[in-house]
Amino acid sequence: MKDIVTQGLQEMGITPPDGAVDKLVEYGRLLLEQNKVMNLTAITEPDQVARLHFLDSAAILKWDAEQRGAGGRTTAPTWLANKTVIDVGTGAGFPGMVLKILEPSISLTLVDSLGKRVVWLEKVCEALSLDGVRCLHARAEELALDPGFRDGFDVAVSRAVAAFPALCELCLPYTKVGGRFAAMKSVESGEEVQSGQNAVKRLGGRLLKPHDYPIPGTEVTHRLVGVEKTAPTPKGLPRSWGKIKKSPL
Ligand code: SAM
Repeated sequence: MKDIVTQGLQEMGITPPDGAVDKLVEYGRLLLEQNKVMNLTAITEPDQVARLHFLDSAAILKWDAEQRGAGGRTTAPTWLANKTVIDVGTGAGFPGMVLKILEPSISLTLVDSLGKRVVWLEKVCEALSLDGVRCLHARAEELALDPGFRDGFDVAVSRAVAAFPALCELCLPYTKVGGRFAAMKSVESGEEVQSGQNAVKRLGGRLLKPHDYPIPGTEVTHRLVGVEKTAPTPKGLPRSWGKIKKSPL
C-alpha cells in the first residue's frame, strides 16, 4: 500500500508532508480491520483502498491548479491550506480524512448520519493524532439550518452520497459566499449534473467547469463537479430529506 500511495501521489504531482504516507497506510489498516465487523467499505483489497479511496480523494488537492490551468506540482501548502472544510456524508472518512492527512492545516468537519461510523472516525483521528477534526453525527439537511454551520465553510466536499440535484441541497448551504462545493462524481454524470442546474441557481451557486482526472494505477477516470457560492443560502433551504428526495429543486 505504501508504494502505491507514494508513487500515485508523485504521479499526481502531490508532495505529501512528512509522515503523511505512513498515516494513510495506518488509516488503511484500521479501515480494513474495522471493516471485518462494521460495514465501512466495499473495497477490501489494500492496494485498491490506496487507489480508489486515497488517490481518488487526494485529487481534490490538485483541483485548483487544474482550474487555473497550472498543472504543476502541488507542494504543501495546497489551495486548501488553512481553509475550513466540511465533508458531507463522509462514511469511513472519504474524501475528508485523506485531505486532512495530506493538508494538515485545514480545519475539518466530518458529518454522517450513521452514528457508528462517526464514533469510529473519532477513534481513528485520535490514533493518527489528527488535530482540528470534528466528527459529527447529524443529518446534513438538518445541521445546515444551524447558524453556526450555515454559509460557514470555505469548502464543502462530498462523494457517493446522492444524485447531484439533491446533493447540492445537502452541501451548498454550508459554503460561504465566495467558497466552493466539490462533488466527486463519475465521468458519466453529465446528465445528472445538467438536471441540477436549477438546484445550483436556487441555492445561490454557479457551476464551474468540471475537472476529469485519472486515478493512477487504474483505468478509472473520475470527475470533480465544482460549484462556486455567489449568494447566501435562501431562507427555507435546505428542506427535509423527504422533500429533497420527492421533489429535487
Ligand atoms: N463519502 C464516503 C465515500 O465516498 O466513501 C461514504 C459514501 S456512503 C455510500 C454514503 C454516506 O452518506 C453514508 O455513510 C451515509 O450514512 C451518509 N449519508 C447519507 N445521507 C446523509 C445525510 N442526509 N446526512 C448525512 N449523512 C448522510
